Amino acid sequence: MSKPLASSIPPSLPPGIKAALIDMDGVLFDSMPFHAASWHRLFTELGVTTSRPEEYYLYEGMKGSDTIGMILKRELDIDTTEEERREIYAKKAELFKDCGQAPAMPGAAKMLAGLKKLGIDTYLVTGSAQGSLLDNLDSLYPGFFPKEKRITALDVKNGKPHPEPYLRGVEKAGVDPSQAIVIENAPLGVRAGKAAGLFTIAVTTGPIPAEAFVKEKADIIFPDMISFADWLHKI
Ligand code: CA
Repeated sequence: MSKPLASSIPPSLPPGIKAALIDMDGVLFDSMPFHAASWHRLFTELGVTTSRPEEYYLYEGMKGSDTIGMILKRELDIDTTEEERREIYAKKAELFKDCGQAPAMPGAAKMLAGLKKLGIDTYLVTGSAQGSLLDNLDSLYPGFFPKEKRITALDVKNGKPHPEPYLRGVEKAGVDPSQAIVIENAPLGVRAGKAAGLFTIAVTTGPIPAEAFVKEKADIIFPDMISFADWLHKI
């Protein structure tokens, strides 16, 4: 992708931003290929013959249990209980772990340093409950996401694209919605941020084209994390 939508990138953030609510998969970890592969393996093992790894990028941001309920209903016409979905999600989490440790997203550490330089506090807002990633946050990004600054799948009733995760983030940060930004890589995550009334930055770190983020009304779209990090260091 060569400089997509570069002309729409403004010179700075809105004034008075105090908190950044940051998604995890595809933003802090380059973990989406592993998730797509493990979803594909899971559903194939459950008898879904139409499963393709690429499809799961579209559901990124949703709670895993919601994805499971949706696909099993749609493909196999099976209704699942919450407990069944939890058991199936545990299997998916195992398959994900088998993929190995997901690497840090190139540019993410520089992005966090840029936010810190601007005096912007960082919070994690993820639809994931993947212990193997959450445990690794402290070692990869020390000091940025202590336990009390995290909202995970376990803390909300409604996952993204519902605004609840980001509204909880604003509440946790103790700021006005006009003082918070969202950093996302998934269309459904951008939809959640916008539904919460927040300034939402999309970073297209995966295969989904920028147009999908325009459609969700992302306020700024960066082609990758490194260009977003560089921009933060220049403002
Ligand atoms: Ca994500």
